[in-house]
This record gives sequence, structure tokens and C-alpha cells, in this order.
Amino acid sequence: MIQLTIKRESGQTEIVDSNFAAMNSILFGKIQVATKQAGKGDVISWDTVDSRTEEKKSEESKLKAAGWCDKCQTFCYGDCNK
Ligand SMILES: [Zn+2]
Repeated sequence: MIQLTIKRESGQTEIVDSNFAAMNSILFGKIQVATKQAGKGDVISWDTVDSRTEEKKSEESKLKAAGWCDKCQTFCYGDCNK
């Protein structure tokens, strides 16, 4: 998946997921022009996001929600910090 970093007209920087499976400098140039013409700001950069990394992240957030603690590596719900 490709993520685009866009600087909005408001000056706010946003990272948005795109539907592009791959990216190159020609396509990126076209997106920059189209985004600017649409008044949606300047596309600053793009990143390829490894879906496996994303899966790992969501797996980690699931663990955290279940009370997983990085500090003591158990489901202590943060008790070790008390
Ligand atoms: Zn803990």
C-alpha cells in the first residue's frame, strides 16, 4: 500500500492511505498536479507501507487493548507501574 504525505491548504500535514499498489516518480508527479489543481494541497512525499508491518502493528494494539504491558511483558494492565 502507498501512503501519501499531503500538506493541506490550511498548513496541516496529513498522511493518507492511497489505493495505489505501487508508485513511481511519474505517477507521483501526476498526483501532485491533480491534488494541487483540486485545491487539496501539496503532496510532499510517498511511502510504501508493508502490509505485514501494518498487521503486526494492529496485532500489537490488540494486545495492548487486552492489557498487555511492554514493560513487564505480561498482561498486567499497567499494574507494574503502580
Ligand atoms: Zn507491567
